[in-house]
Amino acid sequence: MEPTTSRRDFLRVTAIAAAGIPLARPLIPSIAHRVTPTTIRQEKKLGFVLIGLGRLSTRQLAPALQKTKYCRLAGIVTGTPSKAATWKERYGIPDGSIYNYDTMERLADNHDIDVAYVVTPNALHARDAIKAAKAGKHVLCEKPMEVSTARCEEMIAAVKAAGRQLAIGYRCRFQPHHLEMLRLAEEKYFGDVRLIESAHGFQIGDPSQWRLNRSLAGGGPLMDVGIYAIQSAEMIARQYPITVSGMTTTKSDPVKFKDVEESMTFELKFANGISASCTTTYKVNGLDRTTAYAEQGSFGLAPAFDYVGIKGWRSDGRALDIPEVDQFAAEMDDFAECIINNRPTRVPGEMGLRDVRTMMALYESARTGRAVTLA
Ligand code: NAD
Repeated sequence: MEPTTSRRDFLRVTAIAAAGIPLARPLIPSIAHRVTPTTIRQEKKLGFVLIGLGRLSTRQLAPALQKTKYCRLAGIVTGTPSKAATWKERYGIPDGSIYNYDTMERLADNHDIDVAYVVTPNALHARDAIKAAKAGKHVLCEKPMEVSTARCEEMIAAVKAAGRQLAIGYRCRFQPHHLEMLRLAEEKYFGDVRLIESAHGFQIGDPSQWRLNRSLAGGGPLMDVGIYAIQSAEMIARQYPITVSGMTTTKSDPVKFKDVEESMTFELKFANGISASCTTTYKVNGLDRTTAYAEQGSFGLAPAFDYVGIKGWRSDGRALDIPEVDQFAAEMDDFAECIINNRPTRVPGEMGLRDVRTMMALYESARTGRAVTLA
């Protein structure tokens, strides 16, 4: 079947090239990317369908879509009819673009939708991403990519077979303070970074939520928010870790945390000699920071991982103070640009897979009491 966006995109890109406007330079598939300048113009925004209308979709993604340059909310997938009615009214979504999890296959007939954004519980990401890919849609999938490496691989294969792009919702890769951390590390502003400390956690409420259910979440705070500490360390180190070790804490509430870890401390060792010490928790509030220690100074963010209000510092007293952007809007616009310009995303499925592999290795380490080396 003819890709739904390719001809339109080809015409756009051709028109841009003919007008002498440079296309975005192709990105080297590396994990250390800066923001590339926006170089596209287009007459029509890409249509996004949100799959799963929970808190993230409702409070962040739908409002962020209204702020994007290249995207628009064009459809929804929900299992709750009352949500469909509310969203239809609020965002003017046509009846023909409202689906439930059983009718999603019909997305294949909807040429108003280019991208499916998967925002369901972690262990449902593969189910939804694969259906969307089979319907010919590009896929943006929330973190963590899935709960096993096998499922991540299935997602990558399905999107590849469909000839579409797959990106993971690593919003901090588009956040200016995090990008400045990357720049300071990459340019060795304070010399070589040697050590990183990163922590993210919060006190979880409702004991019945899916985040505490291993079959839907895949794990506890490590999978949910510890992944931000891993991502930050990877961004500063500009590599994936090669050896990891983890230790879960003794559970203070074994009933609430019967299925998943309550807190975890872990170490990541990188081939370039950098080591990261990280912590994650569902037990207490206030863990929200990342720090890079280099040979002649240090720099960091605290809070580091919130949606707004990120604050940076540098040991030389100079400001690490940058205007913020809507991270979700930036992430979605970047994916749209990747699709339109046919360039690789800086947050590909392979990155999501690698992080799931790292987290599985951390759980193995916590179980066995041994460090685990990743291939
Ligand atoms: P949520 O519980 O608020 O929403 C989940 C949605 O999935 C709900 O609408 C629910 O009805 C739907 N759903 C479909 N099938 C379900 C099932 N079998 N069981 C439970 N719910 C089901 O969760 P959320 O906070 O919106 O998180 C959704 C995803 O987004 C998760 O993967 C999470 O890790 C990710 N997330 C990312 C960020 C970020 O900053 N990037 C922030 C929050 C959540």
